[in-house]
Amino acid sequence: MTVLAVAEHRRGELRDVSHELAGAGRELADATDSELHLAVVSGDVDAFGEALVREGVDRVHTVDYGEEFNHDVSVQAVEQLAGELDPDYLLVPHTVNGLDYAPAVAERLGLPIVTDAVDMAVDGNLAVTREMYGSKVETTIEVDADRAVVTLRPAEWPQAPTGGDATVEPFDVSIDESAVRSTVTGFEEVAGGDVDISEADVLVSVGRGIEEEDNLDIIRDLAEALDATVSASRPVVDSGWLPKNRQVGQSGKVVTPDVYIAIGISGAVQHVAGMKGADTIIAINTDPNAPIFDIADYGIVDDLFEVVPALTEQFGG
Ligand SMILES: Cc1cc2nc3c(=O)[nH]c(=O)nc-3n(C[C@H](O)[C@H](O)[C@H](O)COP(=O)(O)OP(=O)(O)OC[C@H]3O[C@@H](n4cnc5c(N)ncnc54)[C@H](O)[C@@H]3O)c2cc1C
Repeated sequence: MTVLAVAEHRRGELRDVSHELAGAGRELADATDSELHLAVVSGDVDAFGEALVREGVDRVHTVDYGEEFNHDVSVQAVEQLAGELDPDYLLVPHTVNGLDYAPAVAERLGLPIVTDAVDMAVDGNLAVTREMYGSKVETTIEVDADRAVVTLRPAEWPQAPTGGDATVEPFDVSIDESAVRSTVTGFEEVAGGDVDISEADVLVSVGRGIEEEDNLDIIRDLAEALDATVSASRPVVDSGWLPKNRQVGQSGKVVTPDVYIAIGISGAVQHVAGMKGADTIIAINTDPNAPIFDIADYGIVDDLFEVVPALTEQFGG
């Protein structure tokens, strides 16, 4: 049996989700006594191929065709690779690119597709866990088929450790150019896109407890003292105090920093969905019953207007 996972890259770099797919893929391969194959389409496939040789990966397939993601190329390449490998499960990142081509591949292969998986298990059939009703409920879907395509939500699985001894093999793809109807003309960051909070090691995150825009200065001072990046809960973004690309959560970004400092954030499920993967969570909140304390490693029950400037001073700001 075979599990095939397709990596993702952007602007010359493999995205973290590629290494998470290697981790998730290995778990699924172990549960089904399968080989784990990874594939990467387009870009610097030699470098990507080497980087995808991780613990638990059996083989890596590189498709050297074009530079950036292209819908039609990915559909054809993944369909042809799946045709050759005949995988039982095809794993794709639940990202803008993954969602762009995975349904088309599933349709061409005649396979069911389950999207936005946050967990998987195999007990006879594949069971895929998804979140519903604004992340308030988890539901498990039993896939009534031997084979399936599954898109995996980023930051839900650990990255497979580096190392391993997989072979990297170029896959000789045959792209029908007349069927390549989409063209990538460039890459444009959204306004304020200078910062990608999902890449930050330390996030100082601010919520409605900050009360008004001018008060954000004390948050920025702390972030500067810690060499950290500022992020926020949705009300702060909805108020227009910070741009949308700083929003953490279900309708914002999923972040996995080493340290996440939640300041004046209650810890609503939609917020927690975006930051629960942080290594260390520190919460500052006046309400000792705030849900954020349920997932915090360290908690300070106090007024942020007292605590934040004191912390900034402590860190030499
Ligand atoms: C479909 C949907 C999608 C959503 N997506 C997101 C999302 O992506 N991200 C997101 O964040 N939210 C999202 N939300 C909103 C979410 O439900 C919450 O409303 C939001 O997370 C609350 O933000 P908050 O914690 O900053 O504010 P509040 O819930 O108002 O909490 C403010 C906290 O600050 C504390 N506080 C007040 N004053 C002080 C002080 N002086 N010092 C210390 N603490 C203080 C309070 O005790 C309180 O706990 C979504 C909602 C829906 C319905």
